[in-house]
Amino acid sequence: MIRFALGLAVSLLATATPADDLDRYVYPLRPQLETPPVSIEVTDSPESEAWARRAKALVEEWYPIVTSLLATEEFRPPQEIRLVFRRELNVPAHASGGTITINGDWIRRNPHDLGMVVHELVHVVQAYPRNRHNTGWLVEGIADYIRWWRYEPELMATRGRTRIDPAKAKYTDAYRTTAYFLAWASRTHDMRLVPELDRALRRAEDPRPVFERLTGKPLDELWEAFVKESGGS
Ligand SMILES: [Zn+2]
Repeated sequence: MIRFALGLAVSLLATATPADDLDRYVYPLRPQLETPPVSIEVTDSPESEAWARRAKALVEEWYPIVTSLLATEEFRPPQEIRLVFRRELNVPAHASGGTITINGDWIRRNPHDLGMVVHELVHVVQAYPRNRHNTGWLVEGIADYIRWWRYEPELMATRGRTRIDPAKAKYTDAYRTTAYFLAWASRTHDMRLVPELDRALRRAEDPRPVFERLTGKPLDELWEAFVKESGGS
């Protein structure tokens, strides 16, 4: 896959671009890490069991992929990943350490929402230290980028596309708006963007300068170009 993408980039750009610039067209993959043991706990929400087994299989399949998509060279994996189902929760799901807590009532009403597990799994692999810069928007944006552009891009292409209202939207909106922006900036400027942002967050650094370093544009200017190019909708 990497060789194919690189070959394609070479054939398209050999005449115009120095060879050492080609790396920006290739998503840099880390070696996949092995999935730790995954357990499910459904005592508080026994009706979630079938869904929980499907979620466990999804985690087992996608953990190695998620670890390859982020800057995991110094990541210390959890000993195990626990999927804990609660009858009620004030959010669809959340992750803390190696534990993903999932709202049983939410999945009963939204049984198709397995992609949510991939989003939470990204948080397990992110495991960022505290950051004195305000980075919550980017943490959620990266999790949604992996979910929507890597796990279920066909769904994003058909009905998941977030409309960007240029008057109101901002890259700090998090989730899908930020994910859409990251996908666009990666594709148009540098495919190493998301792993580099991830690396900065792992070091508790301010991730904002990474945008300018990789794209040549300050973050606000890059956002304006995105809004303009995505037609304001
Ligand atoms: Zn999240």
